[in-house]
Parts: sequence; structure tokens; C-alpha cells
Amino acid sequence: MKENPARRAFVKKGACGAAALAAGGLLNFNSSGLAEAQQASPGHGVTANKEWQQLLTPEQIIQLAKIGNQRFVSGAPIQRDYQRDIRDTRKAQYPVAIVLSCIDSRAPAEIIFDAGIGNIFNARIAGNTVDPDVAGSMEYACKVVGSKLVLVMGHTSCGAVKGAIDKVQLGNLTQLIEKIYPAVEALSNFPGDKSSHNPQYVDAVAAKNVQLTIENIRKISPILAELEQQKAIMIAGAMYSVKNGKVDFL
Ligand SMILES: [Zn+2]
Repeated sequence: MKENPARRAFVKKGACGAAALAAGGLLNFNSSGLAEAQQASPGHGVTANKEWQQLLTPEQIIQLAKIGNQRFVSGAPIQRDYQRDIRDTRKAQYPVAIVLSCIDSRAPAEIIFDAGIGNIFNARIAGNTVDPDVAGSMEYACKVVGSKLVLVMGHTSCGAVKGAIDKVQLGNLTQLIEKIYPAVEALSNFPGDKSSHNPQYVDAVAAKNVQLTIENIRKISPILAELEQQKAIMIAGAMYSVKNGKVDFL
């Protein structure tokens, strides 16, 4: 059997094929099994293939995201061969998740999750809110391409959230940040200073905005809501810290 180079990252040294995939921890997935498999192939990245996309559950994909973020935070990301990733994904892509995050330059999803090329879709808009176009992108990812996780990722010190708190008016930005107003209003009882100068308040509004965006995804997209009810996908939320690089799942 011709070994897929991308698969090497998941399997134990010296093994190949489906049995090795199981031995490498993917079929009997657990975090230590996967970490062990990845350590067995230092220097190799991971590019999702059709088999993995079908095998992985949404819960396992969240676990993969957590492990990838741990690698990122610990300063030990996988040393990737991007040219090989390009070759492996030349004919098709099998990303396991779509991440909706802010445009903030400090919050690039592929790097934060140490995900490389071909593993996740990445939708970015200031304030990580959803509209029909963003929902359509998620429908493409999940219904057409087979991704199983929709992850809405807000972040600390978000400028769009601060703008919503301050009710900034500026060109097209005005209507964009109005989408965050419901999160601001939902925290009207926040104890303490309710200003954009209070980091705790800003981050609490951002977390609320993640929760409300998830609810909006379900409202805007009956397709995604149905996939979630069938447990074919999971719609989850997370907050990224620009201070330490850590992602906390909500
Ligand atoms: Zn932001």
C-alpha cells in the first residue's frame, strides 16, 4: 500500500495503512494517543484526508483543536512542510472544521490551533458576527465539504467589541458593530465599570457575543441547525487570549 505522506503524522513510526492509523490513536482516539502519534513523527505536519474527516467526531475535532493550541502555547508547533501540504491538498480538501473569528491581526486561527494548510476553513470578520454570507460559508463547509465543527472564536481586547460599547459611528463600520449591540445590552447588569476601558467588561461582552453569534447561526441557517440536531456537526464557542495565546472553549 502506498503510504500517504500526510498520514505519517498520525501513525506510529514504522507502521503504515489502516491498522497503523488505529494504532496511531485516531480510531481509538484520545488526546494522549494522538500526542504520542505526533511525537512519533517529529517534523511532519498533518493534512486532513477524507478518511479522517469521516472518522473524526465533532468532540474529537475539538480535542484536536485543544491539543493544537497547547502546542502553540508551549512554543512547540509542528515543523510543517507547506510545499508538501500543497501537494497533499492539490486535488481536494477535507477540512474538519470552520472557525469564525475576528479580523484582529493577533488571532489567526490556523496558527493558534497549529493547523497548517488544508485542515480548517477560516472565516474572519471584525467582531466574529454572522450574516447570511458567513452562514452560507459555513453551510458550504459543513453540508458540501463535510466539516463537522463550527467554532465561533471571540478574543480578548477586541476592538470591534470596544467600538460597540462606545457606539462608534464610522462609515460601514457603524452597521457592522451594531450586530454586537445585543451582547452589550445583555450585560446591562454587569457589576463594575461598563466602559471600553474596563478589560473585564470588554471580554465579558466578547464572550456574550460569541454565545449570541452561535444562536444567530442556528436562526439564520436551518441547514446548520438541522445538522447540529442530527449530531452530524457541533456548533461551539471559544475565547482567545491575546495575552497568552490560550484558547478557552466556552
Ligand atoms: Zn476583534
